[in-house]
Amino acid sequence: MAKIHTIHCKDETSTAVAVKALSEAILGFYADQPKNTASLFVSLDGDLGAGKTTATRYLLKAMGYGGKVKSPTYSLCEEHMVQLPNHRELQVFHFDLYRMQTPTEWQEAGLLEHFDHHDRQDRATLCIVEWPQKAEHTLPAMDLVITLMHPSDPASELARTIQIATMTAKGEAILNQLRAP
Ligand code: ADP
Ligand code: MG
Repeated sequence: MAKIHTIHCKDETSTAVAVKALSEAILGFYADQPKNTASLFVSLDGDLGAGKTTATRYLLKAMGYGGKVKSPTYSLCEEHMVQLPNHRELQVFHFDLYRMQTPTEWQEAGLLEHFDHHDRQDRATLCIVEWPQKAEHTLPAMDLVITLMHPSDPASELARTIQIATMTAKGEAILNQLRAP
């Protein structure tokens, strides 16, 4: 059964703080793996301007990534390499499927391999997918489904609600770490 955790953010800074806590839980998940070949799939739902790309930028920054995080609106997928402790590496694939004309365009573009970990020797991966509904169930099952929303009765235009739903045991392990004091 999916578990849902809801965070209310009054402005962009509190989104950054919430995402930093999530990044720590995600990094904890990778650190707990005996081998550096773990994968994690996260989808980001929410309307245009809800903050999906912004949240991804804060997530990567909180993970220690210092480079520019370009929106994958035109490329469908942008790759970033994050250095983990103990000389481990995490490859982050940031997808934005909004502009796809057909549900399988991402597969035709050769992006399915980013979800596959059979030929990876020593690299953990994190796939973050904006607009997963454009792929109409052709994506693998997500571990976490994160939804960003403008609250129905917003105190300000900067307020957002972040809902984190766990879909797998991996997702649940991360949410448990997030809730730990
Ligand atoms: P999306 O990827 O969901 O279409 P973006 O991240 O591109 O949305 O845009 C979100 C916009 O909203 C950015 O300009 C960001 O600065 C702004 N913003 C304002 N308040 C917040 C908040 N609390 N959390 C995230 N983004 C916010
Ligand atoms: Mg976006």
